[in-house]
Amino acid sequence: MAGIYIHIPFCKKRCLYCDFYSTTALEKKNDFLAALQKEIFLRRDFFPQETPVETLYFGGGTPSFLHPGEVQIIVNCLRENFLFSPAAEITFEANPEDINNNYLTSLLRTDINRLSLGIQSFSNSFLALLNRRHNARQAIDAVTTAATKGFNNISIDLIYGLPGQSLAHWEQDLQQAMNLPVSHLSAYHLTYEQGTPLTTLLKEGKIEETPEDLSLQMFKLLIERTAQHGFEHYELSNFARQGQYSRHNMAYWTGKPYLGLGPSAHSFDGEKRYHNTSHLEKYLQLLKDDKTAYESEILSFTDRMNERIMLALRTSAGLDLKDFEQSFGKEKKDLLVAGMKKFTRTGLVLLDEQKAVLSTEGKFLSDMIIRDLFFECK
Ligand code: SF4
Repeated sequence: MAGIYIHIPFCKKRCLYCDFYSTTALEKKNDFLAALQKEIFLRRDFFPQETPVETLYFGGGTPSFLHPGEVQIIVNCLRENFLFSPAAEITFEANPEDINNNYLTSLLRTDINRLSLGIQSFSNSFLALLNRRHNARQAIDAVTTAATKGFNNISIDLIYGLPGQSLAHWEQDLQQAMNLPVSHLSAYHLTYEQGTPLTTLLKEGKIEETPEDLSLQMFKLLIERTAQHGFEHYELSNFARQGQYSRHNMAYWTGKPYLGLGPSAHSFDGEKRYHNTSHLEKYLQLLKDDKTAYESEILSFTDRMNERIMLALRTSAGLDLKDFEQSFGKEKKDLLVAGMKKFTRTGLVLLDEQKAVLSTEGKFLSDMIIRDLFFECK
């Protein structure tokens, strides 16, 4: 099983909370498309021969900055260089403002079979605060039009814990989301990433962080409302109806290899991690010179253990202890289980012979728990 991620590094304007790599140098689009096709060719041997690509994900940046015809050219180029499974999941992230009848009609002619809409909020004032391009009406219309046109696997993203957001505001957002024809929801608590304009506003005292007890109430409400509407909470921030998990992200959380293409994209082949340059100009120049754009690092034994713990504990399936023992040995497994005991006593980790899973409170405190369980690098 293998996955491919394509990073489309353009945004018409930058959202205040975002630390993903993107540029507003939109005039570089054609250069980027040419470079990307060259990169696809140069990295065609990344997976062992005959490994089928099961998932393809267009993220960014803003993939919907591209015309659907350009998207299909990329898919065709990938198909020429990699073996694709006939049932591959092909996800496309889109900004609601870019989605209209014509765009969707063209997108339906491509191989895209899953749509992920970056809605973030259904409140115009919070959307304005975040400097998003779209408004609430456009968000609702994007989902309903996509469903009417025939997309039957639609995911939306929401953010909660916004400055000034009350529990009632969040409940309204959730209610609106549950009323829409979506099969998947990703809901993230706002994080103040270093160097973003929103973090500057926080440091200047112009906005306030959400109190922890309110954040916990919001998280519990999220779990409650999604469950009432038939969503399964299958990963810390992800909920799916009728098993329509994000197969691409599931592969990532279960340690499957993936290839990332485009500026700032990461790859993993089971042993090594690769990081593409987070600089469009450098990326373009390297590809122009027929060079790849990545640096690589071999993951140490400790890195691999910690990564397994971190990714597995994010999922509702949890960490398979037998599997962990097989990969890293009994001594490490016993040490890990001993380290979990203080969390099992407080009900944050649910542990049996087979697996370790985070409880609801544990999920809310997942960063702290996972950090505590990490093995130290020697
Ligand atoms: S959140 Fe998305 S649209 Fe906004 S700046 Fe980041 S990548 Fe661009």
